[in-house]
Amino acid sequence: MQWSDLEREVIRCIKCGACQSVCPVFRELGAESTVARGKVNLIRAVIRGDVDAAGAGFEERMSWCLMCKACQENCPSGVKLDQLILAARRKLAEDKGLPLLKKLIFRLGLRNRRLFDFGMRMGPMFQGLLLRPAPGGKGMLPRLPMGLDMRRLVSPVDARPFRSRVPARVDVAEPRKTVAFFTGCMINYIYPQIGEAVVEVLKRNGIAVIIPAGQHCCGTPVYVNGDVPTAVELARATVDTFAGLEADAVITACGSCGAALRKEYAALLAGEPGYAAKAAALAAKTKDFAEFLAEEGLTAEMQGLAATATYHDSCHLARSQGVRRQPRELIAGVPGLTFKELKAPARCCGAAGSFSLAHYELSRRINDHKVDDIAASGAELVVTGCPMCMMHIRDGMNQRGVAGEVLHTAELLARAYGVEK
Ligand code: SF4
Ligand code: SF4
Repeated sequence: MQWSDLEREVIRCIKCGACQSVCPVFRELGAESTVARGKVNLIRAVIRGDVDAAGAGFEERMSWCLMCKACQENCPSGVKLDQLILAARRKLAEDKGLPLLKKLIFRLGLRNRRLFDFGMRMGPMFQGLLLRPAPGGKGMLPRLPMGLDMRRLVSPVDARPFRSRVPARVDVAEPRKTVAFFTGCMINYIYPQIGEAVVEVLKRNGIAVIIPAGQHCCGTPVYVNGDVPTAVELARATVDTFAGLEADAVITACGSCGAALRKEYAALLAGEPGYAAKAAALAAKTKDFAEFLAEEGLTAEMQGLAATATYHDSCHLARSQGVRRQPRELIAGVPGLTFKELKAPARCCGAAGSFSLAHYELSRRINDHKVDDIAASGAELVVTGCPMCMMHIRDGMNQRGVAGEVLHTAELLARAYGVEK
């Protein structure tokens, strides 16, 4: 959505205030300017020229959004708040330019796949200078205040990225289907064990997997920060990499990557000659790992798992992609496992990518509700379909002293198949 198109969208807000009861940011800050209605009013004021977008308040208020879409889901007028915020962030990036660090990461690093890959492969050699092992072997903590809160538990970059561990094609005898796997950055560089679990579970169930070596970042971090030209380049690269592959489906195992391929590329590439149709074809072919497996059915017998598990709905998986039922079906199908639903499984965990970097205290407060919910469930395993949510929930559980493991749905299934990780 362009800035000039926004007037049509903002006038749809009937000021009913329904968004107040569901917005995690409003719940913590309690200020009208932090909820969807307040942001819509502010954008309307900028469009009319009553407020200057260059003023510090506008940029800060546009940053107070997790893009969780809870407001959209509950808005009787269907106001597309995410599109409004993205258009505002795009305007800010165009008018004021990106901050230097973001410009370096997005324009220099992410535009060049080989350079980005080289940087990520060098990461494990130097991260020990910046990070120290957290007590209990649960992850790493910062050594220095380098833009990360000193209490923040992070998972280090792995010395062996996922795509260097697997061949470009994993075949099975008489495959039922063949899928192409879009790995995303977090799975490739930080959680390669999720990628291995995805491949292992698919393989055991008679699905061949193509893992294109030339794939890159989906572009979500760039897109949500308003750098649309770089996001368009990344979207084009993904569409080109996956178009023409002989695969029945393209699989994602990260809520944000899946939302990008299925929803955002269509908007980003709508005006790109030759790409709109290719983006639509990719969107139609893309499925989340749990969605695909639930549809295809698990054919391989599991050993089972004697544990109690609960499930956290990633905003981008549940609200953007509508995948809620399928992971629960897969978890409930694990022999020996007891499933306990959270009181509010779809409440945002507060991660939201760079939101938790820019507003760590606020993201922690939002996360506390999730951790309270998990603790009250008594579950030993917290399962989710998004690596970013995994990292943030682990951090919250660690800080609050709540016991339990956080796993990706694929890791849970791999464990149920007896693959020990
Ligand atoms: S719920 Fe929708 S229509 Fe109602 S105030 Fe919020 S944005 Fe406006
Ligand atoms: S997307 Fe989420 S955080 Fe942003 S205004 Fe809507 S409910 Fe609040």
